[in-house]
Amino acid sequence: MDATYLNNVIDGLIDDLTPAAVPEDGADRLLCHLLESPRRIVDEPALLAVLSAAVTLRNLVDHVIAQAVAAAERAGIPARKHLSTGADLLAQLGMSPGATWRAVRVGRAAHSLPALTQQQRLGAVGIEFADAVGKGVTHITERVPLSDNDRTNIVTKLMIETTPSDVARKARTIAIDKAAAAPSSEDVVPVAENTDLNDMTLAVNGEGRITGTLDLDALTGEELIAALDPLCRPVPLPDGSADPRPVGRRRAEAFGQIMRTYLSNSQRPMSGGVLPHVTVIRPAEHGVDTLGFGGPVSAATAELIACDSTLTSVIVDHSGVPLDVGRSERLFPPHIRKGLAVRDGGCAHPGCGRPVSWCDAHHIRPWEHGGTTCLDNGVLLCRLHHTAIHHGGWQVYLGADRHPWFIPPHQPGEAEPAHLRSHARRTMTDLPAAA
Ligand SMILES: [Zn+2]
Ligand SMILES: [Zn+2]
Repeated sequence: MDATYLNNVIDGLIDDLTPAAVPEDGADRLLCHLLESPRRIVDEPALLAVLSAAVTLRNLVDHVIAQAVAAAERAGIPARKHLSTGADLLAQLGMSPGATWRAVRVGRAAHSLPALTQQQRLGAVGIEFADAVGKGVTHITERVPLSDNDRTNIVTKLMIETTPSDVARKARTIAIDKAAAAPSSEDVVPVAENTDLNDMTLAVNGEGRITGTLDLDALTGEELIAALDPLCRPVPLPDGSADPRPVGRRRAEAFGQIMRTYLSNSQRPMSGGVLPHVTVIRPAEHGVDTLGFGGPVSAATAELIACDSTLTSVIVDHSGVPLDVGRSERLFPPHIRKGLAVRDGGCAHPGCGRPVSWCDAHHIRPWEHGGTTCLDNGVLLCRLHHTAIHHGGWQVYLGADRHPWFIPPHQPGEAEPAHLRSHARRTMTDLPAAA
């Protein structure tokens, strides 16, 4: 046996995908013609058939890779090439790291999962699914001894699931179920509950954004979900229409709210003798504002930070020496915050009303532009709406009724939209006498 057949298939596919002139009669269309210029309706069955065949082909090719790399390992090829595993061999051929390990796992497990391998040979099972079944069986056998018969039954049970994550969930259920029935299983920690496996990555990406991954035990994950859940709920727009933020964004903003609640709690652990907090470093003349851990931020964000009491801005001279740690008069003291809480009753933005404990105290007239720290220059805003003021084009002013009023974003020269009353005054009908 050699690769002649596979090479013929590859050559045929390359020929079919290489752009060429369409024959005059239009018949005998190449695959590339179908993919590049499909005809509406006429080509629908052909395209669906191509997709279906290509998925089957992908499954078969992944199966061949998995089997071939396992065979290479059995034949000792990686060691002779001074590589430690078949995964390194695949990486040398250009496969990405996650895919190499998946192929190796599936290849190594194939001999012990004949029912699964049989389906893979027919192209009916994708490698992600095959990997999930293999991992599921490993998960169970690491916890409870299985007879060959048990094993076959478990593979059958896992294979009727639809997605890899369904397979994983089913395997955990079976493992917990069987471990409970088996003697002396108390000291075995199911993988889902094993805190030794917890992992979290954080990195600053090329755009200066923070990205990360989470891998949590079921209980910590449950705590995270329980903490996020009530903070994720949609907030209707001032006109009552639905919250346009997708669920991922609402979840990320809820996570931010949890961080801010934590940072504003004085009972939390100290770091270097001070409570950990967010710091922005602001050059006194010409220069870019910078976050303590992150990197450069826009002036609008630095001003938002300068507005709020759980965050600190440090003004530095040209050589980086702090000029003013700038907390006292600029920040709203507790008695004024209490006054704001009574007047605004939470986020004052129309239609919001998030609780007082979620809110920043915003200076209506910025402190650095001469705005004072007093009740009539303050307004409570949740972070979403505080950002809407600093970044989103919303404006806020104190009306003649001494309540905050809001002006929605509008283009310069456009007619100014109707001013909206504070959330705390949503049931009132009087308009302010003057802006
Ligand atoms: Zn502000
Ligand atoms: Zn709000």
